[in-house]
Amino acid sequence: MLPVVGVSACLLGQHVRYDGRHKYTGLIVEELSKHCQLLAVCPEVEIGLGIPRPKIQLTQVGATIKVLQQNQADVDVTSELVDFAARFVKQHTLNGMVLQDKSPSCGIGNTPIYSESGKVVSDSSGLFAATVIDLLPELPVIRASQLQSKEDVAMFVFKLSANLKG
Ligand code: SF4
Repeated sequence: MLPVVGVSACLLGQHVRYDGRHKYTGLIVEELSKHCQLLAVCPEVEIGLGIPRPKIQLTQVGATIKVLQQNQADVDVTSELVDFAARFVKQHTLNGMVLQDKSPSCGIGNTPIYSESGKVVSDSSGLFAATVIDLLPELPVIRASQLQSKEDVAMFVFKLSANLKG
C-alpha cells in the first residue's frame, strides 16, 4: 500500500487560494504521486472561508499568536483552524505531509507573524501545520520549497518509508 501524504490543495492545482489561484507544483503532482497516495487539503476552505476570500495572517496579540483577518482583527479563525487540524489527523491515517510555504495555515516555520499595527515581528508555522506537527511529532512534514528535484522527492519518500517501518 502506498503511503498517504497530505498535501496543500493549492500545490495540486486546485484553485483554493485567497485570490482564487493555485500553486500547481509539477514535481509533487507528477513525481511524488508515483510513490504516494496524495490527499489534498485546504484548511482555509475546510473551515468555511470562501474563494476568493480576504487574507488572514498570524498576529501577535499580547503573549499569544492568533489567526486574524488582515485589516479586520475582529474576524478570528484561530480555534477553527486548530479544531480542523485535530479532526483531520483523527480522520486520516497520514504517513507524511507536504505543505505550502509562508501560509498562515500551512506554512512550516517561515510564515510571517504581524504585530497588531501590521509590522512583521518574526515568523513561525501556520496554525494548521503547527497543530498537526504538535499532534503527530514523528510525522515526516516538509515545505513545498524543499522539494526542488527528483532527488529531494526520493529523499522524502525514503523518510516516509523509514517512518512506516519504524
Ligand atoms: S496554502 Fe493551505 S490554506 Fe492556503 S490555499 Fe493552499 S492549501 Fe489552502
